[in-house]
Amino acid sequence: MADTPRFKRVLLKISGEALMGDRSYGLDPNMVSRVCDEIKSVVDLGAEVCLVVGAGNIFRGVSGASAGIERATADYMGMLATVMNALALQGALEDKGVPTRVLSAIPMATVAEPYIRRRAVRHMEKGRVVIFAAGTGNPFFTTDTAAALRASEMGCDALLKATSVDGVYDADPKKVPTAKRFDKLTYLDVLSRDLKVMDAAAISLARENRIPIIVFSIFTAGAFSQVVCGKGVFTIVTDEDAAQ
Ligand code: UDP
Repeated sequence: MADTPRFKRVLLKISGEALMGDRSYGLDPNMVSRVCDEIKSVVDLGAEVCLVVGAGNIFRGVSGASAGIERATADYMGMLATVMNALALQGALEDKGVPTRVLSAIPMATVAEPYIRRRAVRHMEKGRVVIFAAGTGNPFFTTDTAAALRASEMGCDALLKATSVDGVYDADPKKVPTAKRFDKLTYLDVLSRDLKVMDAAAISLARENRIPIIVFSIFTAGAFSQVVCGKGVFTIVTDEDAAQ
């Protein structure tokens, strides 16, 4: 049973696809609710939690660009889609009694607060779950990079990447039954072996700011709170010294 948080302040990156459940598009309310139960259990442990959510369940810039939309425009569409996911998470968390604030990197005053770093820190100190919407606010970036950026700005102790598998493997475990899971990796391992953890910009930013990246399965009940307590199954990516 998870008890004391090893990490006081964490950022959880949730891909849009994690909110899709078995659907091929959009949001599955049951899945949103399950993810929010996991988040609530970490808040109940006394850890400070912030979230960055993607939009792969709705719209990705690269897909829009391949369909003929100008890349920057398509990326703005992707960023707007993250706002929809952020509002869905906000609604579900507040239904469960968890206080939240959505802060958008693209100002939209009637929907969310604008992103102001010091205000975000204050919300977290007050025990609110801060949901960062609209990525970095810039096209040509990803929400993984937004997650590493916000984790750095918030002074998070760890950046947790929620995926559908319980860590980083040397091959796709859904296709290769003998695939081996890594317990620990260095940022350089991830970059040099091109392991699919996060994009290179996100890895570099986390490395520069010495924020461990932890990859775990959001589909395993209780996994998020276990990982925050340093338990359970995951892969941790740290600097060279810490990973030895
Ligand atoms: N995006 C962007 N700038 C950012 C973050 C996101 O332009 O700082 C756009 C980009 O088009 C991306 C989309 O938003 O494809 C959705 O984000 P992402 O693909 O990272 O979502 P995920 O894969 O995590 O669901």
